[in-house]
Amino acid sequence: MKFPGVDYMEFDSLLDDEQRMVRDTVRQFVDEMVSPIIEECHEQCRTPLELVPQMGEMGLFGANLTGYGLPGLDNVSYGLIMQELERGDSGLRSFVSVQGALCMYPIWAFGSEDQKQRWLPPMATGEAIGCFGLTEPDFGSNPGGMRTTARREGEEWVLDGSKQWITNGTLADVAIVWAKTDEGVRGFLVEKGTPGYTSSDQHGKFSLRASTTSELGFSNCRIPAENMLPKTVGLKNALMCLNQARYGIAWGGLGAAMDCYHTALEYSKERIQFDGQPIACHQLVQDKLTWMITEITKGQLLAYQMGQLKDSGKLQHFHVSMGKRNNVWVARESAKLAREILGANGIVNDYPVIRHMLNIESVYTYEGTHDIHGLVIGAEVTGVPAFNAPRIPEKKAKSPTPVGSAAE
Ligand SMILES: Cc1cc2nc3c(=O)[nH]c(=O)nc-3n(C[C@H](O)[C@H](O)[C@H](O)COP(=O)(O)OP(=O)(O)OC[C@H]3O[C@@H](n4cnc5c(N)ncnc54)[C@H](O)[C@@H]3O)c2cc1C
Repeated sequence: MKFPGVDYMEFDSLLDDEQRMVRDTVRQFVDEMVSPIIEECHEQCRTPLELVPQMGEMGLFGANLTGYGLPGLDNVSYGLIMQELERGDSGLRSFVSVQGALCMYPIWAFGSEDQKQRWLPPMATGEAIGCFGLTEPDFGSNPGGMRTTARREGEEWVLDGSKQWITNGTLADVAIVWAKTDEGVRGFLVEKGTPGYTSSDQHGKFSLRASTTSELGFSNCRIPAENMLPKTVGLKNALMCLNQARYGIAWGGLGAAMDCYHTALEYSKERIQFDGQPIACHQLVQDKLTWMITEITKGQLLAYQMGQLKDSGKLQHFHVSMGKRNNVWVARESAKLAREILGANGIVNDYPVIRHMLNIESVYTYEGTHDIHGLVIGAEVTGVPAFNAPRIPEKKAKSPTPVGSAAE
């Protein structure tokens, strides 16, 4: 069914013609090309790679970046793209976020001219795929503890270590890998096929099944000296990439929430129980729909203001934390409420709700968990970072494991 959009409070009147056109184009793409195949992709646990060339043609990769033939769209348009893609599936939006915000952006912002010329045009068309390797088996919320190293030997960098939970890992032609050097954390471009670089898929996922998640290994992996991103000066560059992606996720979460709301609303008007009445007539059902539409509407306004701030160069990382944290939470709660409204039909793939519900568990966790973003906001408003708990005194400690250092 064609998606009519969710607009309770004339949100559309905030958008200009181009923004509406961008959104409607991606909306149509999702209705016509994504919705018909996405349940199958989820079931088969595969990334819908057949959509990549068309997404490239539509300019969806790195859509808010400029130069090198990139679209240079404003950030509200970019956000609306993410919203519509995630209405299709969080895995599809993840693919586009990783490609644009986590791989093209660091090359665009921190790369040499040669690196930009070499990678940005083929990544924009989808002919080259990227992945972003920051998380490690023992370091998720606290990437600063990473163990992956890069040491300089003559005209080469030598990488050793491993990365885990890497979206697009086995699909990627180039991995943006963050590693510790003698001078701090730097970003490196590691090309597929480089000796000493391995990747394998992680299996058993119940969530984000239409997305590829991988482990990366580096063992005496030698790359040319010029493959370091020259303008990276520390972990903060990796966090800047995450902020780009998190901005898109704040919009994406709304897309998943909208699909859940729309599905539940339509269902409630058609599902008859007790005295020939649709379940929409019951106050308890209406209360759930009311919660969803209210929170989606608030989330839209939050995302729009973030876009305005981003376009004017005023968006701060703690704003992004609020957007990502709130809107993904709205999606998570909306998926649960929609599933309830659908009754038994809420657990089968005839409807998208259970897939969104499972997907959102990943989105709630990656790119900074809900709680870590709560700590970012808490640190901003109080001025007191609470990432590091006081160490438990040795004598009284039940577990010898101290809490690690802060993510940001
Ligand atoms: C499907 C998927 C795709 C992903 N894709 C990528 C990718 O492409 N690239 C990449 O680099 N990473 C990726 N990740 C990794 C993701 O970013 C991490 O999973 C995330 O940062 C959380 O790390 P963790 O899973 O190790 O959890 P942990 O850091 O171990 O956290 C576990 C729990 O402890 C809580 N916690 C941790 N520290 C604190 C604290 N100080 N105070 C209070 N609570 C705390 C957390 O909120 C969480 O609830 C992906 C993850 C998933 C699931």
